[in-house]
Amino acid sequence: MDVSELLDGLNDNQREAVAAPLQNMLVLAGAGSGKTRVLVHRIAWLMQVENASPYSVFAVTFTNKAAKEMRARVEQTIEGSAGGMWIGTFHGLAHRILRAHHREAKLPESFQILDSDDQQRMIRRLLKAMNIDEKKWPAKHIAWYISAKKDEGLRPGDIQAYDVNEQLLQRVYSAYQEACDRAGLVDFAEILLRCYEVLQQQPTLLRHYQQRFAHILVDEFQDTNTIQYRWLALIAGDTNSMMIVGDDDQSIYGWRGARIENIKRFLDDFDAETIRLEQNYRSTATILKAANTLIENNSERMGKSLWTDGNQGEPISIYAAFNELDEARFIVGKIKTWLQAGNALSDSAILYRNNAQSRVLEEALLQEGMKYRIYGGMRFFERQEIKDALCYLRLVSNRQDDAAFERVINTPTRGIGDKTLSHIRDCARAESLPLWYAAKAIIEQQHLSGRAATAVTRFLELVDGIEARIGDLTLAEQAKYAIENTGLMAMYQAEKGEKGRARVENLEELINACEQYELPVDEEFSSPLQGFLAYTSLESGEGQAEEHEDAVQMMTLHSAKGLEFPLVFMAGVEEGMFPSQQSQEESGRLEEERRLCYVGMTRAMDKLYITHAEARRLYGQEKYHSPSRFLRELPDDCIEEIRVRTKVTAPQQSSRFSPSLTQAAFADSGFNLGQRVLHAKFGEGTVLNYEGAGAQSRVQVNFDDVGSKWLVTAYARLQAL
Ligand code: ATP
Ligand code: MG
Repeated sequence: MDVSELLDGLNDNQREAVAAPLQNMLVLAGAGSGKTRVLVHRIAWLMQVENASPYSVFAVTFTNKAAKEMRARVEQTIEGSAGGMWIGTFHGLAHRILRAHHREAKLPESFQILDSDDQQRMIRRLLKAMNIDEKKWPAKHIAWYISAKKDEGLRPGDIQAYDVNEQLLQRVYSAYQEACDRAGLVDFAEILLRCYEVLQQQPTLLRHYQQRFAHILVDEFQDTNTIQYRWLALIAGDTNSMMIVGDDDQSIYGWRGARIENIKRFLDDFDAETIRLEQNYRSTATILKAANTLIENNSERMGKSLWTDGNQGEPISIYAAFNELDEARFIVGKIKTWLQAGNALSDSAILYRNNAQSRVLEEALLQEGMKYRIYGGMRFFERQEIKDALCYLRLVSNRQDDAAFERVINTPTRGIGDKTLSHIRDCARAESLPLWYAAKAIIEQQHLSGRAATAVTRFLELVDGIEARIGDLTLAEQAKYAIENTGLMAMYQAEKGEKGRARVENLEELINACEQYELPVDEEFSSPLQGFLAYTSLESGEGQAEEHEDAVQMMTLHSAKGLEFPLVFMAGVEEGMFPSQQSQEESGRLEEERRLCYVGMTRAMDKLYITHAEARRLYGQEKYHSPSRFLRELPDDCIEEIRVRTKVTAPQQSSRFSPSLTQAAFADSGFNLGQRVLHAKFGEGTVLNYEGAGAQSRVQVNFDDVGSKWLVTAYARLQAL
């Protein structure tokens, strides 16, 4: 592209940013206003007009997918190779520097990166050596603590530990760090911190990079954490120019240490000029108005306005599903219609709040034979915790399953070390036995130390014991029994943070999957468990489309950041799901959830569907959720409600976001279904259902704080809101 072409496809404000003199700049703008486009064009401008060398460009984004896309967009724009440029994620780029300067970083040339499993194994070893009870101090919790400190740039010596608990954590952190350093290992958070420290401590090195990277560009800046900010600032120094682009309304990683304040801090620290973009090119006027109205409910905003001269477009359709299966059926049905109209599957996306929600959606897609691809997360039956649980069940139903044996013999840890395992493997090889029987043989022959023998025996008894006890149970009860009695559930419950919570939820969702599983009539299985296991292994092999294949795009709302799709579904938009239950308990988190909703809605270009379910089985429990408060915050003229398909046949009320209700109930209670009410003790809630008449009449209310309750109408003294 020549220079005039470079600017042609831009509006005035975008052009101002792209063609600005070398200086520090903040491009602050709402979703879909072309921030990423400005960044890409700026890089091309620097090369073509400022004669910048590709070697001087340092561009940072958040995900590998985004980095790949940015490189492709740059190459397209400059019509050449972006080879010499550094374009990558924070971790990717810091890792590259560390590799080049491992000696200065006091790391061996072949230093390895610890994944979270390795990390926890290491912490567990240390805990044992330090005589710390792992039950009280789960390794996952400690790993979370260490990462959080590193993200803040803190070494053990920098932590002011006032109470004994923190002192203990600090000691473990310290021991862990020594062990990592001795072994030449770095964990994920260490990569950035270590890189930062090396640059800070080695002036020559720092000068080298500062002189090289004259142009630093950062996308999605609102989600940077403390150490990322400091790292960027260090490389920028006093002389280089930085262009950061971001949107405070899209900051969604506060729970992981991101600091929105970094935007304001940047303005102060770098004396930067702010350029605002106000025209949205992505979404229809309707979607944009709804998203803008929603986000106005947040209090702490830097303030932006966003308009479009695009089409009005269709209203946002809101579907009140009867339950999660109905929701999935609805979504798949709409995608089918969309496909029949000649559109590509890959132009549609299903976004959800929690990974566990994908299972029911995946099944509905599979049933229709529709390809799908899950981004930034694994397919349900391939997730670590699900595989752990399935491997126990596999071993219970077939002792010869060596892969399952290997996976679970020491998960959760039961003191069976590598030495014992290799003993078992050797014996299995020598005698041509499955591992299970080899383990038995070794114990009988007393080839193991007393401790190891006891541990292995316990494991064998555990699996035998499960089989003996689950014979009469239903499939779901069998799964539940196994998950709980093997210690898997407890192990994942001990894991801190969002990830741990997600794993527990997934395990509960597995029980749910068992409940819904129907044994196929035309196939012969010796038991429902056999049938289910066959089904899960087929499931994990098929269905998922390759990257280039035409497929429905599925991801969590968090992973959808920066992307756009013509057709978008947001599923499970219910109180307690989205906003999540936890967010209602921690201050500031509710606004972050609302930003996440804003991110989700603004992914849609042409058509947006939002669905919520009246009843939802998730994590093994049936819950009644009222529609999310976010739905009530959308302007009436931007939405259309699609009536609920419901088992109740009575005439339907027309109140907003309400499921239907029997007519008598409405007449008798004086309340509408879906109506907000106040109870003296339980607080605010939404009327969900009603039964009986007169003095016996009862009303079901889903309270925001305490969940769903049936109350005798006469005593409930509900106050309409
Ligand atoms: P997000 O906040 O979601 O990351 P963004 O601000 O980075 O959004 P982009 O992804 O850069 O926005 O742009 C959104 C869409 O608008 C893209 O399809 C882009 O190609 C298009 N676009 C941006 N600027 C213009 C323009 N001046 N003319 C036409 N299309 C534009
Ligand atoms: Mg962007």
